[in-house]
Amino acid sequence: MVTRYFREAAETIDLPDHLYEVLETSYRETDVQVPVHKDDGSLAIYRGYRVQHNGARGPYKGGIRYHPAVDINEVRALASLMTWKTALLNLPFGGAKGGVNVDPSELSERELEALTRRFTQSISHILGPYRDVPAPDMNTNPQVMAWLMDAYSAKAGYTPAIVTGKPVAFGGAPGRREATGRGVVFTLEQALHREGRTLEGVDIAIQGFGNVGTWAAKTAVEKGARIVAISDIEGGVRRDDGIDVDAAIALVAAGRSVIELPDVDQLEGGEVLLTACDVLIPAALGEVITKENQDDVQAEWIVEGANNPTTPDADQALHDRGVKIIPDILANGGGVTGSYFEWTQNIQQFTWEEAIFNERLEKRMKRAVDETLDAAERWDVRPRRAAFAIAIERVAEAAHMRGYV
Ligand code: NAD
Repeated sequence: MVTRYFREAAETIDLPDHLYEVLETSYRETDVQVPVHKDDGSLAIYRGYRVQHNGARGPYKGGIRYHPAVDINEVRALASLMTWKTALLNLPFGGAKGGVNVDPSELSERELEALTRRFTQSISHILGPYRDVPAPDMNTNPQVMAWLMDAYSAKAGYTPAIVTGKPVAFGGAPGRREATGRGVVFTLEQALHREGRTLEGVDIAIQGFGNVGTWAAKTAVEKGARIVAISDIEGGVRRDDGIDVDAAIALVAAGRSVIELPDVDQLEGGEVLLTACDVLIPAALGEVITKENQDDVQAEWIVEGANNPTTPDADQALHDRGVKIIPDILANGGGVTGSYFEWTQNIQQFTWEEAIFNERLEKRMKRAVDETLDAAERWDVRPRRAAFAIAIERVAEAAHMRGYV
């Protein structure tokens, strides 16, 4: 998918052949053995990866995931996506991604810590606050980032800027946790603003009620929108007059499901994607809007909180029938923008108040929306293609000016 979007966008800007090859492939791919002594005395060997796709615009940046399906192809694609995302948001970073092929739910806390420290040790020679700065991703969290930072600092000295998504207790930034969900809503607000509209009275459906979904819902309601449908892994619910978002958040925080909310209609599995609404925010999984179900999507807007929620065929078909899509590399870029704010505070040993964090997040996200939608009009292409094209142009220029190609 990433390669397909890269290729079509490269065509839009007539990317020269020699740059094409440099930007399509990764700069460095590291593949290491991660041995862990288990609590039962046995030794388990996992594989860990860190792919640094492109560093022309700054230190490599991207998350580390722990998942049994992690392999080099997945990490490679996600690393390239990070290069385009940081460039589109105009952050002074390149793109990278990492992962270990492990099911963390099968590890004890001690085993998880040992795995993290060992993996960090194995890749520490390619990390650094001005070299490569990891972050949390699927199944990794602030605690894992704290272990990573501690393992790196054991040798290099106190280096909070080596990783983002840290606990607020040391070096984490207030506002970072909420940044992706808030950013999703800022992008929608700006796209509506360009049409002379606001979020007041807009009906929104959200698939996934985790970190991204909850903060998107809360922010949208603060701005006058109505959340008419939400879902999680157990199922979905709908309420035409608007769901009580705080009650839903409290349920999820208590480890329960949104389907337990009172006074709502129940929705089956993927029905939340097809329910009547003005705006659909997929914020759970990839590849949920496909050629098979795209005809039944009723929303006027899709704002991609999740990565790759729309397959390329569905993307084109939706665009052709007038559904407006704010693509993932723009819509969910609030997370990495928040990581940039955390990194910059760590580098300066200076902390910002949360209000300043949010103000700057809003400004950067809205500027990126304007740049993307202006370019889409200028090139007469859909916003996703414009977003990739802007990003490729920026990375190509930096690579060229640094004398790399
Ligand atoms: P999360 O784990 O906090 O929440 C995921 C939510 O999706 C949960 O409510 C879960 O119940 C639900 N879900 C899982 N399977 C489902 C299914 N089959 N049907 C319906 N709902 C299902 O994850 P998150 O951090 O909110 O991330 C959500 C998406 O956003 C992911 O695709 C992630 O890659 C992307 N994303 C997250 C961030 C971030 O900063 N958290 C940044 C960029 C992109």
